[in-house]
Amino acid sequence: MAILAEGNTSAREDAGTFWVKASGAGLRDIGEAGFIQCLFEPILRGMSHKSLPDDKVRSVLQSAVCDRSSGLAPSVESFMHAYLLSLPGVEFVGHAHPIAFLSLMCLEEAGQFADQRLFPDEIVCCGAASAFVPYVDPGLPLARAVQESVESYYHAKAELPKTIWLQNHGLIAVGRTTAEVMSAMLMSEKSSQVRLGALSTGRKLQPLSQEQVARIHTRPDESYRQKMLFITETH
Ligand SMILES: [Zn+2]
Repeated sequence: MAILAEGNTSAREDAGTFWVKASGAGLRDIGEAGFIQCLFEPILRGMSHKSLPDDKVRSVLQSAVCDRSSGLAPSVESFMHAYLLSLPGVEFVGHAHPIAFLSLMCLEEAGQFADQRLFPDEIVCCGAASAFVPYVDPGLPLARAVQESVESYYHAKAELPKTIWLQNHGLIAVGRTTAEVMSAMLMSEKSSQVRLGALSTGRKLQPLSQEQVARIHTRPDESYRQKMLFITETH
């Protein structure tokens, strides 16, 4: 799902700190040394400042690093990771730019697709809908836009999204376990391939109705399946 230094991942360690990919590290072959432990507080405080100049952004990130002896810098997307990891039930965050998914995000209709589901497993793994973020610069502007989108999703649906779609950029998935994040990312990529395949016929797409989505989303046997899929790896 990632080439070169694309994408970044993070995990909450405790109430005060989290681990995030170092800037420039490649996700394909990353090891423990590629992650940096950071404090939430300076990053979340920086995010709440209405206007933080560009030169301050880097110093805020550096001030959050727990062990500066490594010389590594946290990913510029650490603002987005810190915000999402501060939400209830979020222990891990994955972010990548998978090819089929990104193709979908480059279509004019990407925003309206975020509210649709095509098949039951997409609901089980990715949620009843996805939060959508119109294109914005990476880093602090993206983190603020993600916060805005997650909050409006929560107000509309009374639950947090499992997947967040970034227009012309990529995918974010959140979860209690690494398995939950992986399932959401893999299924988002699959559903993008299915959607693109269906659209490429030139015929009319038939998404599930809101009633069908709601029924799957709340069925007890589906929540059992979710548990079986997602409890295999715990934090
Ligand atoms: Zn990205």
